[in-house]
Parts: sequence; C-alpha cells; structure tokens
Amino acid sequence: MTTRILGYAANAVGESLQPFEYAAPRLGAHDVRVSVTHCGVCHTDIQAIDDYYGITSFPFVPGHEIVGVVSEVGSDVSSLKEGDRVCIGWQARSCGECEWCLKGETQLCMRIEDTTVMVPYGGFSSSVVADHRFVYPLPAFMLGEVAAVLMCAGLSVFSALQTHVTGPELKVAVVGVGGLGHIAIQCAHALGCEVTAISSSPDKKEQALGFGADHFVVSTGKDSMRPVDYGYDLLICTANNGIDWSSLLMSLKKRGRLVLLGFPNIALNSTNLVAHELSITGSLIGNPATMRAMLSFAQDHDIKPALELMPMSEVNAALQRVKENKARYRIVLVNESQ
Ligand SMILES: [Zn+2]
Ligand SMILES: [Zn+2]
Repeated sequence: MTTRILGYAANAVGESLQPFEYAAPRLGAHDVRVSVTHCGVCHTDIQAIDDYYGITSFPFVPGHEIVGVVSEVGSDVSSLKEGDRVCIGWQARSCGECEWCLKGETQLCMRIEDTTVMVPYGGFSSSVVADHRFVYPLPAFMLGEVAAVLMCAGLSVFSALQTHVTGPELKVAVVGVGGLGHIAIQCAHALGCEVTAISSSPDKKEQALGFGADHFVVSTGKDSMRPVDYGYDLLICTANNGIDWSSLLMSLKKRGRLVLLGFPNIALNSTNLVAHELSITGSLIGNPATMRAMLSFAQDHDIKPALELMPMSEVNAALQRVKENKARYRIVLVNESQ
C-alpha cells in the first residue's frame, strides 16, 4: 500500500506550485484510492490558489478533473475493484444528511466546502481518495484525457443545458469560447439547439463553427451585438470578464434566461431585466446522476474536448498558459510515472 504521496502544492496564496510529499490520507469504509494518470487544469484551480473563494487552506494541491486507476478500496465498496479505470470530478463526497443531499442534489450540500476532492489534497498528485459514490467508471473507448476534461468542464455545461434546455430548437448562445464554452457549443448542438458562439476573439470564429455553432458573434462593441437583439431563449455564460452585461441581456428574448457557469462580477442596469422579465441564475457542477448521464451523452454524441497534453511536472507552465488564456482549449496533465 502506498504510504507517501507526491503532489504539487501552493504553500501560500498566489504562489507557484512546489513538489509536496505527504502521508497517504486514511481510507474510509466507503472510499477508494485512485492512482492519478490524468488531471485537467481548470480556471477555478487558479482562483483557488489565489483564494478567490476565501476557503483555501495551504499547502493546497489543486486538481479536480481526475482520471486514474483504483489502487485500493474501502471495506464497504463492492461496485469498484483494484485496477478499474475511473474518473472523479470536483465533488468527492457529501454530508449525506442535509436537505439537498437527501434530494440527490449533492452539489448543493450545505457543507459544500468539505466535499471537494481537493480536501485534503487534489489531483495534481500521484493519488487521491474519494467516496466511491462520486467515482465513475471510465466509459469504454473513451480516452483518459477526454474523460478528465469532462469531469468539470463537461459536467458543468451539460448540467446547465440539461436543466435549462426545456424544449426542441431553442436558440442558445454560448458566451466565451474557451475550456467550458467549446464543450457547451458541442453539447447544445447535439441537443438540437440553434447555437450561437459569442466571443471577444474574432479569430475563434472558424473553430467555434467547427465545434457545431451555427453562428458566431463578436461581443466587443455594442454594434456587433445589435443584429441579435432579443434573439436567444438561453445564454450560457462561461466567460469571466470583458462582458457588457447590458448588451448581453438585450440579446435575450422576453422571459429569456442567462445562466452563469463561472464566477464573474456582474454590473448592470436592471431596466431590461424587469421590463423583459428576464432571469439570471447560476449552475454549479452537477450531481452524480447528471455526471453519469453526461458521460453517456458524451460517448453517444462523440463530444470531443480540444486539449493539449503536458507532463504533470510542468504544472506551473500549464497554469501560466491557462492564466494567459493561451490553452486551446483545455490542458490535461499526464502523470508519466503511472
Ligand atoms: Zn473546474
Ligand atoms: Zn449535504
């Protein structure tokens, strides 16, 4: 049994990651230990290193788009066994007792900060521990790096679409063509929506259309948004900054909905919100049932994240590429020793 684990940790707010050796966390009766082969790099890893949410404790090992191999199972686990290839997302456990857990909406657990796979230490590491109810078999024929990206980016966009795409042929706009956005375009297209990609980068047009967008709109400047006034039933916002919120709301049909997947600061005049009876809501990852549905949907519809592979030892260079918005479109770290 592994007793010492090697990860990459930030020792203080905003610091670069350093090799970090720690004792293997205790394995509970419902837990499995997973040797990490792949881990995606998510924008929220960087926000957590920067303690944007005010809940990070240091040393902090990020990483919550995990694929690996089961190396040990707890005494009450019968559904997984040593050697199984599995994947794990942001949530690795839940309290099981609060009203949201009892409803199966574990992503809204009242003790959410205790439920992440990054407590005690996340997937930029040789191994993690998670409750088996949050550990998913890697679908047959799916590459490890593909499943890794689906664990947070894929789940987040699929869950929002599953909840808010309430009928056929909805007009959906995806704001931001990045790690989440490029998967949202693929999923919305596969669901039969008419999809518009909205980006501040005109050079993403060709790729956005390649991902399945029917239209492409450059968001910078009110004039470029004018042709789509009052056009969309649903806006899925995956961008975190550079957004003209008033123009964006103007592009919604009456009673349309803006769903936020990142954590942007919003500033807007409420006139259009009230006059057009619009809604703004958030969507946080998804529950285990949605995760399973997403994996099967991704396989059935051949959802293919665009990704770059980098060795885990180059984690700081990978984080820098994500910070500079250079990743096309997701970076997956590969643990070459596993
Ligand atoms: Zn994430
Ligand atoms: Zn709970």
